[in-house]
Amino acid sequence: MTGEKIQSIFRDTAYVRTGGSGAELRTAQYLVERCGDYGVSAKIWPFKVDMADVKSAELIADGRKIPCKGYLCCGSGEVEAELYYLPNTDKCSLAGCRGKVVMIDGYLGYWTYHDILDNGAVGFITYDGDANYIDRDIDRRELRSYVSEGKKILGVNINAKDAIEIIKSGCKTVRIAIEQEEYEGESRNVIAEIPGETDETVVFTAHYDSTSLSQGAYDNMSGSIGILAALEKFSSVKPRRTLRFIWCGSEERGLLGSKAYTASLSEEELKKIVLNINLDMIGSAMGRFIACCSSENKLVNYIEYFACEYGFGISCRQDVYSSDSTPFADKGVPSLSFARLAPHNTATIHNSYDTADVMSAEQMKKDIDFINAFSERMINAAAFPVVHEIPDEVKKKLDYYLLREREKK
Ligand SMILES: [Zn+2]
Repeated sequence: MTGEKIQSIFRDTAYVRTGGSGAELRTAQYLVERCGDYGVSAKIWPFKVDMADVKSAELIADGRKIPCKGYLCCGSGEVEAELYYLPNTDKCSLAGCRGKVVMIDGYLGYWTYHDILDNGAVGFITYDGDANYIDRDIDRRELRSYVSEGKKILGVNINAKDAIEIIKSGCKTVRIAIEQEEYEGESRNVIAEIPGETDETVVFTAHYDSTSLSQGAYDNMSGSIGILAALEKFSSVKPRRTLRFIWCGSEERGLLGSKAYTASLSEEELKKIVLNINLDMIGSAMGRFIACCSSENKLVNYIEYFACEYGFGISCRQDVYSSDSTPFADKGVPSLSFARLAPHNTATIHNSYDTADVMSAEQMKKDIDFINAFSERMINAAAFPVVHEIPDEVKKKLDYYLLREREKK
């Protein structure tokens, strides 16, 4: 794929496309057309997702109105209570939650949400953005159904600068009021296939959705272009193994596209998938390349040796990656994610700074060439070398990541 083509795709997709939105659908249709550029027909594969339209959201802190966004799917109504800042989820800090609206740092994960609920919180405030940045952007967050498990309290997200001001001012009472309509909607994967000589299948994945403030050039139109480049390469010569390309929707909402897709496959269909190669953020101007393998360690070693022979700097490890490779691994499919991780002061994600400006078409091409060279070895291997089994230590990490078990910190 040429640098011009790469840049034209970044230009054409320079808009926000959250999971389940009309903009996500527009990108899905665009990807179908791009597959068509190489004579490969792709289809849109829809799946159900929770959606919400927030009509109004208000946060009043000691009589002062604070800019906020209401959490999607946290219910409607209002709550007024004392504010409590929870900097940590130790027993002593959590004991202070009772009857309070609780402000927490970072993302509201499953365990923290249930900790504050169990300790009697009546509402919550999160904050994002960076107090050192000029903007006062606020990301649109969602109380995911697998986090709330139906137990909803009202919550808002605010900017970090306002969060600091609220805490420094010694704010006593806050009031949250939210009106929203919650409904079932649709997100979608885009799927294309190149038949091989056997039905052993290598599945390429990359998510194409973005978060609410982000054009998602780096995270993850870059990976979406990466697997399109693989489709381009392998569409011209018949590969030994069958190739499937899945552009996943709603990854940013909790890997929903890859979870829905893997859940739809029978045991037999899953057995045929010998490897999942996932790309989530490649081709940044700065940063180091990594491979994270949810598979036997031999694959980690192989990639390391192969990269050395090829002449490509990489750090490889066996682990679970927070991306669409994980639902495949959880179904027993050896999976790996490739990524080029940029230092945070050169490229950030999930905010309005994730644009084509942080990308390098030259680096994209180098990353794509390496990924294609590795993939070609796997796709055309005389016998498929990677065992179709997930080691116990990786299974343990999957239990933690997928919230089946709590990791003791
Ligand atoms: Zn991503």
